[in-house]
Amino acid sequence: MPAKHNKSKCKETDAPKKTHAAKGKGAAYDQVHEFRDAQDRLKEHVPILFAVLSRVNKKNAREWALAFEKGGFTDHWFPVQKEQAMADTCRRLDLKLTQKELDEFYRLQWGYFVRAVADGESITYRDKEIPPYEPFPHPRLPAHGAFGEVDTVNLIADPTKVYARKRLFNFGDDHMKRIFEEVKALKNIKHEHAVPFYGSYKFQDSTYLLFELCDLNLRRFFSEPPTWFIRLPPHQKANKLVNWMLDLALCIAQFHRIGGIHRDLKPENILIKGDTIFVADFGLASQKPSVSSNPASVEGTECYKAPEQGAGFMFGRSADMFALGCIYIELVTFGTNINVEWFGHYRQQYGPQTCHLSNHKCFRHNLKLVSSFINTYLKRDGQMGKLIDLIQFEMLSAGPSFRPSAKEIAQRLMVMGNELSFFKKEGCCKAEKPGARVSDHTEKSLLEKMAKLTLAEEDKVDKHGFAGMLGEDCFEN
Ligand SMILES: [Zn+2]
Ligand SMILES: [Zn+2]
Repeated sequence: MPAKHNKSKCKETDAPKKTHAAKGKGAAYDQVHEFRDAQDRLKEHVPILFAVLSRVNKKNAREWALAFEKGGFTDHWFPVQKEQAMADTCRRLDLKLTQKELDEFYRLQWGYFVRAVADGESITYRDKEIPPYEPFPHPRLPAHGAFGEVDTVNLIADPTKVYARKRLFNFGDDHMKRIFEEVKALKNIKHEHAVPFYGSYKFQDSTYLLFELCDLNLRRFFSEPPTWFIRLPPHQKANKLVNWMLDLALCIAQFHRIGGIHRDLKPENILIKGDTIFVADFGLASQKPSVSSNPASVEGTECYKAPEQGAGFMFGRSADMFALGCIYIELVTFGTNINVEWFGHYRQQYGPQTCHLSNHKCFRHNLKLVSSFINTYLKRDGQMGKLIDLIQFEMLSAGPSFRPSAKEIAQRLMVMGNELSFFKKEGCCKAEKPGARVSDHTEKSLLEKMAKLTLAEEDKVDKHGFAGMLGEDCFEN
């Protein structure tokens, strides 16, 4: 690069025919050219060095970075492994960095030159390195879950790149093996509605997972739906909610296909970014919760557990389908303009109150009441009747074998969608065309037998807080 620069300068001086005026113009041109040339060299050879030096000393960074570049030290030369190497090089290049600036550079450089994870890979950072991420404040994070804590970080070198970072609690070697398995599963899911996973890294005995940072989770959506949703006309709200149901089924079907079981599906683990829905926290719940686990997180997990899961029996993929059924019925409740939180209070207040872990709100110990709620408040005679039946009588069956697979749910949602006036499959992901029906309707689940039950003491139900967030039932018409 310097050679090219000299050449153009020579050309200028070798042109004796130029007039005075033209010469002046040429000098200005030369100055601009020189600046642009330096800009190019900074951008091409030492962009990261320039960024680090800018944080060390904003005024001198440009001059220093260019001196390094001229001396042949491009970004590839960094990070410097020994503090002294940087001091020696600065002396050789005749750069006057104070000891404080050298120390600052040595500390900061790791964040810039150490590679960030990508494509689901796993990196172990050595103790003396500093991972290239720094936390930034988020109004609702850090959040502490049963199995780790989540905060928000950005790339030190590029603050526009933001991530949700999950730090996993360390329970020893056996635990680490499991984390490894889970990370492998995360890499393999690759579904449009699985929360994008960027990779994991280990640093000083902790494991961190980096995910797409989403706007909010489904729990928060239920209590404070974002403006973009509120502004949709009712039929588009209804369409969105049913599309989300389909998206969730498709994503879980894919996870089941590769041999996974989620084990902890709940609105807190369903994330929304823009108007796209994502499933998060795949399989991490298979790990033992820590003693210090957050009660709110335990309550959430307890609420959506399948009956066989809570009882400590062996359970399989059908446990996920029970949890998904609970989430579906909450989506229908929300769309019917009934406060989802009130539905929780309803279970808590009028149920047997035998379940302290879930604060008496769980679905599995309140199945009779859930059925009563559906029969009383959700409209089976409207467009959503068939869908409500599918959730109530099949997905929420007490017996795991009565619950359809995620793949079948997705296929049946597609078939039902044809009969819904508001439904149109969105282009975010592909749904298979339904094949031959496999479900056996001769079996009646526990809930189906209870379908006709309604609360005898319906009059006593306190309907304070009953009204939902939408102002109207978006499934009507
Ligand atoms: Zn319970
Ligand atoms: Zn989709």
